[in-house]
Amino acid sequence: MFKIVIDQQRCKSCGLCIEFCPKSVIETNPELNEAGFHAARIVSQDDCTGCGSCALMCPEACIEIYRVEVEAPANA
Ligand code: SF4
Ligand code: SF4
Repeated sequence: MFKIVIDQQRCKSCGLCIEFCPKSVIETNPELNEAGFHAARIVSQDDCTGCGSCALMCPEACIEIYRVEVEAPANA
């Protein structure tokens, strides 16, 4: 699975990551960041496919995508 991290303080709230995420993983944070923007935030991390569209579109380069290893069940 994948983990997305959005730098809340660098986001300028352009909305491109939200618009281009095919899985609706990202939404607008109703709270303002220190610069006065409603930053993008993750709403449904488990739905992320790691496609990379959000990070590719972000003009502020404030999105990082990590692959997270998931342990297999003990008796699988
Ligand atoms: S990597 Fe793809 S699926 Fe995951 S949050 Fe970004 S755009 Fe959405
Ligand atoms: S694309 Fe980048 S700057 Fe724009 S809302 Fe998303 S995280 Fe913020």
